[in-house]
Amino acid sequence: MQFEVFTLLPEVFPSYIDTSIIKRARERGLITVRVHNIRDYTHDKHHMTDDTPYGGGGGMVMKPEPIFEAIESVLGVDASFDDSLEEREASAQDVKIPIILLTPQGRVFNQSIAQELSQHDRIVLICGRYEGFDERIREHLVTDEISIGDYVLTGGELPALIMIDSISRLQPDVLGDPTGAQDDSHAMGLLEYPHYTRPPEFRGWKIPEVLLSGAHAKIDKWRREQALLRTYKKRPDMLEKADLSKEDKKFLEKLKNEEEREVRETSDEE
Ligand code: SAM
Repeated sequence: MQFEVFTLLPEVFPSYIDTSIIKRARERGLITVRVHNIRDYTHDKHHMTDDTPYGGGGGMVMKPEPIFEAIESVLGVDASFDDSLEEREASAQDVKIPIILLTPQGRVFNQSIAQELSQHDRIVLICGRYEGFDERIREHLVTDEISIGDYVLTGGELPALIMIDSISRLQPDVLGDPTGAQDDSHAMGLLEYPHYTRPPEFRGWKIPEVLLSGAHAKIDKWRREQALLRTYKKRPDMLEKADLSKEDKKFLEKLKNEEEREVRETSDEE
């Protein structure tokens, strides 16, 4: 998997990608992160990458020329298209590489988008700064727009690192334990079950007995129910889309009934 990152601040990236799992994945050739400075693709004396907005107003806007040139030169193709959806799709198919604009206006990043993008061999991430991009970049170059959440950052570098991190850990062999990502929160549409490690008792707090039983079927059942319980309590919205078995549904029904009974009992007491 190869990430092609386009940024005005390449110095942001090394400290993170030279650390821990991402570092090892790079060293083992499982992922490649190439960081390109958009400024290297300017031709004027002052290497300008931004300019004032037409129509006035505050802030600066990232110019189209260096970004188009940077991406086309790195991909070695004319990646631009005219503004019809058919052409956009055709161009994306020709290039076969998602060209992703990082923007708070994009579809909101989540585990299933990470999974979708992890199927590609190469993806392009364009990091913005200032007020954002000249609209023609959005209209004639990018094939996707992604936001990492409904808030605004000063630049797209942290969003790019977040995407690189979450997509990389889905690549084969990147995680030490190949099943590591399977039970993660969001991977299966549920939040993950609780974890415990040694000691079995800390300040009088014991770990759940079942985890010491060595009975794997019982442990699996307990973990599944805990994942359901957590999701029910913390993110009930996720349950609507989760892939639930008959037993899962029965367990959730029981939880709901218990909760309703508790509410009734409390209101009876009052
Ligand atoms: N004026 C822009 C708007 O309202 O949509 C926001 C510009 S922001 C200050 C500068 C850059 O940071 C954006 O172009 C984008 O690349 C990046 N950025 C900020 N928030 C982001 C988010 N939630 N997700 C992805 N990228 C973000």
